[in-house]
Amino acid sequence: MASLARRRAGSLLLRPAELGRFSAAWRGFAAAAEENDVVVIGGGPGGYVAAIKAAQLGLKTTCIEKRGSLGGTCLNVGCIPSKALLHSSHMYYEAKHAFANHGVKFSQLEIDLPAMLAQKDKAVSGLTRGIEGLFKKNKVNYVKGYGKFTSPSEISVDTLDGNNTIIKGKNIIIATGSEVKSLPGVTIDEQKIVSSTGALSLQKYSKEACCNRGRLHRSGDGLSLGTS
Ligand SMILES: Cc1cc2nc3c(=O)[nH]c(=O)nc-3n(C[C@H](O)[C@H](O)[C@H](O)COP(=O)(O)OP(=O)(O)OC[C@H]3O[C@@H](n4cnc5c(N)ncnc54)[C@H](O)[C@@H]3O)c2cc1C
Repeated sequence: MASLARRRAGSLLLRPAELGRFSAAWRGFAAAAEENDVVVIGGGPGGYVAAIKAAQLGLKTTCIEKRGSLGGTCLNVGCIPSKALLHSSHMYYEAKHAFANHGVKFSQLEIDLPAMLAQKDKAVSGLTRGIEGLFKKNKVNYVKGYGKFTSPSEISVDTLDGNNTIIKGKNIIIATGSEVKSLPGVTIDEQKIVSSTGALSLQKYSKEACCNRGRLHRSGDGLSLGTS
């Protein structure tokens, strides 16, 4: 997972001076807030790896993540859940098509989709909690909430518990990743027309599916989702 994360190239290191469009009038808004050496917005593979590395280098680091769990798209609704489902469906395929050749026979074989989804969720939560553990071990301060710039060096965070806090940083890394985008005229209802996120939690499977991979993702997930 770490090597996968290292390949993520979307993160951007911005120094406060480079964020000149923000008004200086906002400065002092949070004079009480303790300043970090590094603040990372986004706890995906781009963000969490940067945060851990910064902390390992001795920098006081805070990571802000709005999702409520670390790991970003990849761990929560991307690579990991799709590969977990792919693994399960591969096992089903093997049982159906290959086991008999090895003398292993079943009288009945069926898919228990809720159990398959639960197994996927277990894989996801184990890994996301693992990153939280790495944050604790490396002393990365983790703030759960939506962060937005209020000045070049200050981020206002609407925290998931309904409060607001100001996080100050000498250096800010923006690692906010991407969001699902619908095609013009197509409404994603996550029932019939699903995004990759919805496709990973469908409560029943269909024999027919049309997958528009387009340029939405750059990896092999169209295939893995189609298979799973
Ligand atoms: C179905 C699917 C399967 C995939 N499979 C693979 C694969 O097999 N191999 C592969 O290499 N890649 C795969 N990918 C792509 C991979 O998930 C992404 O490339 C990777 O997650 C990008 O990492 P990131 O850190 O840049 O962004 P993200 O993972 O999107 O993380 C960004 C994080 O920032 C948070 N955030 C955004 N804005 C704010 C804000 N204002 N305040 C606080 N937090 C914020 C988001 O909640 C998110 O958690 C897959 C993607 C999908 C959708």
